[in-house]
Amino acid sequence: MVVSYTHEPFTNFQNSNNIAEYEAALHLVKSELGKEYPLIIGGERVTTDEKIVSINPSDKNEVVGTVSKANQALAEQAMEKAQEAFKVWSGWDPEARANVLFRAAAIARRRKHEFSAWMAYEIGKTRTEADADSAEAIDFLEYYARQMIELKDGEPVNSRWFENNQYAYQPLGVGLTVSPWNLPFAIMAGTTVGPMVAGNTILLKPASLTPVITYKFMEVLEEAGMPAGVVNYIPGSGSEIGDYLVEHPQTRFINFTGSKEVGIGIYEKAAKVQPGQNFLKKTAIEMGGKDTIIVDDDADLALAADAIVQSAYGFSGQKCSACSRVVVHEDVYDEVLDKVTKITEELTVGDPESAETYMGPVSEQAAYDKILDYIDIGKQEARLVTGGTGNNEEGYFIQPTIFADVNPHARIMQEEIFGPVVAFAKAKDFQELIDIANNTDYGLTGSVISNDRAHLEKARREFHVGNLYFNRGCTAAIVGYQPFGGFKLSGTDSKAGGPGYILHFMDPKTVCDQF
Ligand code: GLU
Repeated sequence: MVVSYTHEPFTNFQNSNNIAEYEAALHLVKSELGKEYPLIIGGERVTTDEKIVSINPSDKNEVVGTVSKANQALAEQAMEKAQEAFKVWSGWDPEARANVLFRAAAIARRRKHEFSAWMAYEIGKTRTEADADSAEAIDFLEYYARQMIELKDGEPVNSRWFENNQYAYQPLGVGLTVSPWNLPFAIMAGTTVGPMVAGNTILLKPASLTPVITYKFMEVLEEAGMPAGVVNYIPGSGSEIGDYLVEHPQTRFINFTGSKEVGIGIYEKAAKVQPGQNFLKKTAIEMGGKDTIIVDDDADLALAADAIVQSAYGFSGQKCSACSRVVVHEDVYDEVLDKVTKITEELTVGDPESAETYMGPVSEQAAYDKILDYIDIGKQEARLVTGGTGNNEEGYFIQPTIFADVNPHARIMQEEIFGPVVAFAKAKDFQELIDIANNTDYGLTGSVISNDRAHLEKARREFHVGNLYFNRGCTAAIVGYQPFGGFKLSGTDSKAGGPGYILHFMDPKTVCDQF
């Protein structure tokens, strides 16, 4: 009997034991930096000449690891191994599959700080952000395992006296998971083990910025008893192996989290029925956001300011849920802007290894350049209040930035920047607050800070986002508590960490046995 699900608690970093344990983990991981990692295909280690070099975004000279890089021939080999493994794995008792996830959760829980430390070095997460990422990875393992057990016998349907009807779920086959660098443990693990526990086998192509933590997770799955070939680890480039596997006639589904441009491209390619393909591919596609916090005239303004700062600058704004637009009622606009600016100017930017750091670097040179380009655009479109500068001598650091008096149609109010940049706009009443919040192509998260129940209820109906929050920030959804996914061009709204998630990767079958 499995106990009911509760989420993994976050570590209290005020506690000196926790601090010591975390720092020991940083020390351990530091001593392991610079190693080489092979591909894992059908359980075999495969080393290639071509490599992906993972570097520390806080210190460009520090190599986190050097990882083999798959080409099309190896991707094809992985597909064959995954096909073979599917024949066995799909026949496993669903509870035995779930047990692999429960064991993996236990291993990851014991080594939680170590995983967090890998994220500090590989992608620049501060300790609280890394800890939340590790906790969420554990949650996905625990939650999807239970979901498989709940769904193992299908759902009840009616039968007449002369028949027995059954409605049960079966896995699809081999699927491709393309995971992002911004939650390199949580989303990578969740988008892999969800379809996996359903009985599918997986080709896992992690983000090229975070292949090492993915390799570490592969070791956990193996230790937990995952049979060879169930998840195949194939880092590589999108244009070489990503497109090849999306278009492959034997790929049954694609589970993608990443940018809007790549997501739309995958959706289009997956729609085409290839020669030799006798099914339609399923897709779960989670893309970007341009997420708004709206502040009403009667709101608790201190709460509003804290919610905005946390949602905008946690992990340098590199979350698809991050707050990048703030729309404030004109009566309290100046006060909210002032409060947010004061807190923002006190934030510490620097090396995430240090306990003092609130915000680490951005992910890489290309992200650094893109964010600074948007800051230049912002300077032409609006009034720069604070921040606006970067320093990439050692790592890719950008100061938390605020633009005020922004036109709701300006580019910095419409386009995803994926960095620590927030645009403020003003509205005359609650209707206009909602209208501006809704005027984007995205529909992922949003918050309403208000003490007016009627306004909150209006927002419940009219604020068109997949994850809507009242009187709190718009990030940090918890698996099994706030299922996560967006409307419009934020994606297919597959709701990671939600009740029906693994059904995206199964086909229901009806069997009618007439007596
Ligand atoms: N689920 C995360 C949150 O609620 C964000 C996921 C993402 O950025 O991709 O903040």
